[in-house]
Amino acid sequence: MAYVLPEKLRNIVPYAPGGEGVPVRLDANESFLAPSGEIWEEILERIAALKLNRYPDMLAGRLLALAGARYGVSPDLLTGGCGSDELIGLIFTHLLSPGDTCAFLMPDFSMYEVYANQSGVKGIDVGADLYAKQRLPGEEDSFVDTVIARVKKSGAKLFILSNPCNPTSLLIGREEMRRIHDALPDVLLISDEAYMEFAREAGSLLSLVEKSDHLIVLRTCSKAFGMAGIRLGFAAAPRTITNALRAVKAPYNLNVFTQAAGEVLFSHPEYLDRCIETIIASREALYAMVSQIAREKGWETDAPQTNFVLLRTGRDRKAAEYLKERGISVRTLSCGIRITAGSETENAAVVAALREF
Ligand SMILES: *Cc1c(COP(=O)(O)O)cnc(C)c1O
Repeated sequence: MAYVLPEKLRNIVPYAPGGEGVPVRLDANESFLAPSGEIWEEILERIAALKLNRYPDMLAGRLLALAGARYGVSPDLLTGGCGSDELIGLIFTHLLSPGDTCAFLMPDFSMYEVYANQSGVKGIDVGADLYAKQRLPGEEDSFVDTVIARVKKSGAKLFILSNPCNPTSLLIGREEMRRIHDALPDVLLISDEAYMEFAREAGSLLSLVEKSDHLIVLRTCSKAFGMAGIRLGFAAAPRTITNALRAVKAPYNLNVFTQAAGEVLFSHPEYLDRCIETIIASREALYAMVSQIAREKGWETDAPQTNFVLLRTGRDRKAAEYLKERGISVRTLSCGIRITAGSETENAAVVAALREF
């Protein structure tokens, strides 16, 4: 008998970003700022001094100390990952058992469903009609109450959400997140804070990690710090969960290049702050222009809390095709087109094309 793939993998499709080769890439929420100048020189110096015949530091001690200082979390409570993507995968595979249930608040990051599927975990969407509710000011309390009630009812062992959210770009504030955390003591809460820098930490649960026993906060260098290429993310979690994550990860998951570049990066907090402010300024400029067009054309968009703008045109697929023909790649999702804030030239290009559409 020939080898057959497990049932869950028979119809699986590899992740495809889809913007390769397009001149203006505004589809993957990357930073438009690549490390240059002094930072880049320092990274090159560090790389030149590496001994590649040796394994990297298993726990990335120096890197975690520097990252811990930045995030205000003890390095003992941090685990490094090959992007936060790897950490999400580890959480689904190892902190849950096949047959367990996990709750999503859709629309949210598409990879959550992929990882749940791969690990035989049943995903339940508690989002349904909530996106519309969340967009109304003054509805925060009733939004949170509904989320709590639905997660409880789902029987989920784990509740994962991105905050601020990819793709809606909306933020759930710290008080609201805290209320969700406190009301669900039996549920492992994963606060994926890939974009939290752009909301100036307003919804972050990092400060709760040391006091909690059912929380993991995920952070990444891919979005605000312009380092998607080195693949570096972190899980901040209470000690018992951190011990488990460190035990299940591959021992040398962070290679020497990643650790070296990460150490240089976190040694320059003022550079990181500058990156955040520059990208927020770009987002605000893009949003001002896009919301102006939206008003003229009867499209919809909300004030963004991330490094991208979500736009609903009513003809999103057509709009994205139109942009692509003009050399601009954006991401089309069921809830709109997601446009990453780019350089001034890139923003001007996408705005001009949207105006013509
Ligand atoms: C981009 C993104 C990630 C993955 O980031 P990496 O650290 O590059 O793996 C995780 N979560 C969300 C919501 C994202 O948008």
